[in-house]
Amino acid sequence: MRISISPYRLQPRSALNSKTDAKSREGALLKVESSAGTGYADLFPWPELGDEPLAVHLESMTGFRPTRLVERSLALAEKDAKARSQKIRLGSSDWLKNNALVTDVSRVSKEDLKAWDARGFSTIKVKCGTDVAAEVSFLENVASSFRFRLRLDFNSGSSDFLEKFLKVFPESLDERIEYAEDPCPYEARRWNDLRRRWPVALDHELSKVNRGEEIAADVLILKPARQNAEELADWARQKGMAVALTSSMDHPVGVAHAVATAFELQKQSMAKILESGFLTLDCYDENAFAARFPVDGPWMAMPEGTGIGFDDLFEEAPWSVL
Ligand code: MG
Repeated sequence: MRISISPYRLQPRSALNSKTDAKSREGALLKVESSAGTGYADLFPWPELGDEPLAVHLESMTGFRPTRLVERSLALAEKDAKARSQKIRLGSSDWLKNNALVTDVSRVSKEDLKAWDARGFSTIKVKCGTDVAAEVSFLENVASSFRFRLRLDFNSGSSDFLEKFLKVFPESLDERIEYAEDPCPYEARRWNDLRRRWPVALDHELSKVNRGEEIAADVLILKPARQNAEELADWARQKGMAVALTSSMDHPVGVAHAVATAFELQKQSMAKILESGFLTLDCYDENAFAARFPVDGPWMAMPEGTGIGFDDLFEEAPWSVL
C-alpha cells in the first residue's frame, strides 16, 4: 500500500461553534494505492473536540498503529478505490435533504430565513452555547414567523449554561425542538431529566457512554467520515435511537464520503433515519471541490465522477508520498 498526502487549510467564514474561533483549520487529503486500486479520502481532526492534532495522525500512518481517525479514512479510501476500479459512482444519483445551519445567530437575518423558507428548508440547526439572550431571542424570532423545526447543538457546553438557557427558553416553543444535541457533558440522570422537556441527541458525548447500558438519548448523530456508521446505526436501532447523519464540518472530500454513506444507510439500514446535516461547505471560503456539489436549497447530491467524484481535481492535486 502506498499513501500520498495533500495537506490543505480551510478558512472559516466565522467561528464554527462555541469551542473554536475563526482561525484556519488544517487537514490532509489522502491518496491510497493498493491492490484495490487508487482511492481517496479526507483526514480532518478536531483538536478542540478531543482529537490529536493532524501531525499525530499523519505520523501514525507511517507506523503500524494508525489512529482510529486514520483507520476510518483508510477504509473509506479503499471503498472509493473499489468503486473507481469498477468505474461506478458511490452513493446514489438521488438528492438528500438537509437542515440549514446557523453557526452564529448574529449573522442570520430575517431575509436569510425567508430565503430558506422559500427554498424548501424544513429544519434549522442552531449552534448554541455562547450567549443565552441572543440565542433564545433568535429562536423566538424564528418560531414566531416560520414553521421550521429546530435542532439545537450545545457542543457539550456547561450544565450552568444549559440551566440558564432552559430558564429563559419559552415552554410554548418546546414542541418546535426536534432535539438538543450534546446539551451538556453526558450524565444519564441529567440527560434523562432534560428529556422530559426536549428530545436529546448524542454526538461527541458518545465517547463517555457505556454502550452496553441503556442510553439517555433519543437520537444518535453519526459522522460517517469519522465513524463506522453502519455499525453504529445498527447499535442505535437496538437502543431505540433514531439517527441523523452529518458532516464533521470537514473538507468536501470527507463530506462526499459521508453523503455516499447516508444514501447507503437509507437503502440498507433498519434504523430510523432523520434529515441530514451536510450543508456545511459554505462555512468556509469556497474551494474547487466544494463547487462540485450539486446543491438546491436543502437538497444535495453526489459530485460527478467515479467513486466519490472529483476525478480531475484529484489528478491535479499536489501529492507527496508519505
Ligand atoms: Mg454536534
